[in-house]
Parts: sequence; structure tokens; C-alpha cells
Amino acid sequence: MEPDYSPSSLTIDLGPRSYRMHVRSLEGAPGLMREAGLDAERCFVVTDENVASLYLDRLMEALRAARFTPEAHVVAPGEQSKSEAPLRRLYDAALEWGLDRQTPVAALGGGVVGDLAGFAAATLLRGLPLVHLPTSLVAQVDSSLGGKTGINHATGKNLIGAFHQPVLVAADPEVLETLPQREWTSGLAEVVKHALIADANLLAFLREHWAAILNREAGPLPEMIHRAARVKAEVVAEDERERGRRAILNFGHTFGHAIEHAAGYGSFTHGEAVAVGMRAALFLSRERHPDFGGDAALDLVTRLPVRGGDPARLSFEALRRAMQQDKKNEGDAVRFVLLRAAGEAHVAGGFDDDTLEAAWQFALRSGD
Ligand code: NAD
Ligand code: ZN
Repeated sequence: MEPDYSPSSLTIDLGPRSYRMHVRSLEGAPGLMREAGLDAERCFVVTDENVASLYLDRLMEALRAARFTPEAHVVAPGEQSKSEAPLRRLYDAALEWGLDRQTPVAALGGGVVGDLAGFAAATLLRGLPLVHLPTSLVAQVDSSLGGKTGINHATGKNLIGAFHQPVLVAADPEVLETLPQREWTSGLAEVVKHALIADANLLAFLREHWAAILNREAGPLPEMIHRAARVKAEVVAEDERERGRRAILNFGHTFGHAIEHAAGYGSFTHGEAVAVGMRAALFLSRERHPDFGGDAALDLVTRLPVRGGDPARLSFEALRRAMQQDKKNEGDAVRFVLLRAAGEAHVAGGFDDDTLEAAWQFALRSGD
């Protein structure tokens, strides 16, 4: 049965840490903050230069209209802002400006801003209320939900962090208009992933509206964002601390992370690597579950653009080595998220190297 469908908001059900996500205009966010019980006078806004030039004034004005006294801290765009020096500068700016335990931190931006500001909110004064105002597709359907925050370390991504749930998420689909096209299609990979692992209706919706979605036509976007975010919300509600079920969000990511690693970070985007990884994961799903046709799933996955060059330049051997390092491994076995059917995922291992190589060859062939 379809749960009650309301395209404008949904609940992330985490008991005392529950919160709502609204799909609504940016101007409405400060009012939603008041409704969520944030009654502080001040608000510390974190954003990056790209987003600041487009949307910061609008947010600051709306915050003032809702009787907040806002202060903005702008970081450089890009993954390098998820690191120690920018975090320290953020701490300095926030503490010099003046905070108390009630002061909300509002993250206006993509996943980088959300992870950085979220970690600052988790740690400043032992925890400040966090509001996510996600502006990238990845942030709207994925990173703003679930409470993972953190920065990178020289030895790896996201190694320093904390779980810190926001008190509110407000996503405005209209701001996605200005997102660079490659960021858009990379985010779509995660949307497709959410459909495949947990929402066969979303899969049908995406197939029906795919041309409009690729072109970012406004029509289908609010419903797409709402449905994709709902998948994340439901998985997180079942497994807040990633002890089990939450691992299904890594569909396509075993090969995907290996592709990013083997190609060198920055050649394929994360979403592009995941798109290719999902082709391999669909091959393995069909090996394990011969009754799973998967044609609709494969059709959608192979329509995700991959612009970082030809994946065929990566050797299976390099990928196999990178997969051995994957964090989901228990002992020596490489683990994968598989589909039993569209919308039904589970974690499994036990594939031999020949099968994995066949999956890789399939991933390369099916992209043509
Ligand atoms: P990002 O934050 O770097 O944003 C991508 C680019 O788009 C940036 O240059 C940004 O300035 C720009 N941008 C953002 N919104 C825009 C808009 N509306 N208009 C124009 N430009 C805009 O990258 P991302 O893909 O949003 O997030 C990736 C990060 O998120 C990674 O660090 C990843 O580790 C993290 N992440 C975290 C979680 C989590 O659960 N916490 C989940 C997934 C990803
Ligand atoms: Zn991902």
C-alpha cells in the first residue's frame, strides 16, 4: 500500500529526534524554523561562495523578517572545505560573533556545506540546533537527511564526524535551476538508487518523466524530491546509527567507490561512478536472483549520463583491489547491495572474482 502522500512535507521518524522535511520555497524557511520551536534571537548561517552569490541575500532578508538576527559565514566551494582549517575558521567566526546553546546553525548549500556546518553544530557548545537548507540535488534527497555530519582527513573521506540530526530540513526545488548540469545528473544517480532499493513506484515515475527530469523541467521535481527523500527518511528511521538496514543506501557504491578510487578522485563524479556501479550491481542481483528481470531498472540506470571519460580504461584488477578496501567488508569477502526485485534490497557477498569481472564487463557493455 502507498503511504499517505503529501508532496509538501514528510517526517523523519526518530522518536525524540524526529523532524520534518518541507519541500518549499527558501523564503518560507525562517517561518518553518519558528514553527519548529526555534525561538532564538540569533541564527548562524553557513554557505559557500557559489550559493551565497545566488541565494544568501534572500535567506538573510527572510530571516530578518522572521525576527532573527543572522550572521553569515561563507566558505570556499568544493570538497576542500570539508577539512580542518575551514572548520577552525568557522569555529572562530561563530564563537567571536557570539552563540548560546539555543542559537541555530543553518546550512545553506550542498552536501559539503551541510556536512561541515552540521559537524560544527554537533560540536560547538556540545551541540547547537541544526537546520538544513539544502540547495543541491544530492543534499535535498540524501545528505541533509539522516544526521551524518563530518569532515575529511588526509587518510580518507568523512573520517571525523558525528551523528547530529537537524531540527528541520527545508528544500526549495527552484534553487536547483542554477545547479551545474553535471551536479544535477550526478544527483540523479542517487535518486535512481533510492527508487531501485525501496520504491518501485518512484522507478515508474522516473521512467515516465525522465526526459523532463533530465532537462530539469519544474513539473515533476517536487514530487521526485519528496519521494526520493522519503526513501532516505524511511531507511534512516529504521537504522539511525547504520548498524544494519542503512547499508542498502550503498547500492552501486561497492563498484562505485572502487571506480572513484581507481580513476583518481575528480575524474568521475561520485554520482557517475555510482551510475556505473549500479550496472554492475544489477548484474550481480540477476546472478543471485534469476527471477528478478530488472530490465526497467537497467534501462533507467543506463540513461544516467557519465561524463568523466571512458570507464573501460579502468582495469578489473585495479577495481578488485580497491573493493577489497571497501568499508562494508567483513573479513575478506567483498559485500554488495543486491536487489531481489525492484524496490527490495539486501546486502550479500560470496561472489568469486570471475563473476565480479563478468559484472564489470557487463557494466561497460550496458553503457553503450
Ligand atoms: P557540493 O556541496 O560540493 O555542491 C556541488 C556544487 O554545486 C558546489 O560547487 C556548490 O557550490 C554548488 N551548488 C550547490 N547548490 C547550488 C545551487 N542551487 N546553484 C548553483 N550552485 C550550487 O556537493 P554535493 O554533491 O551537494 O554534496 C557532496 C558532499 O556531500 C560530499 O562531501 C559527500 O561526502 C557529502 N554527502 C554526505 C551525506 C551525508 O549523509 N551526510 C550523504 C551524501 C553525500
Ligand atoms: Zn552516494
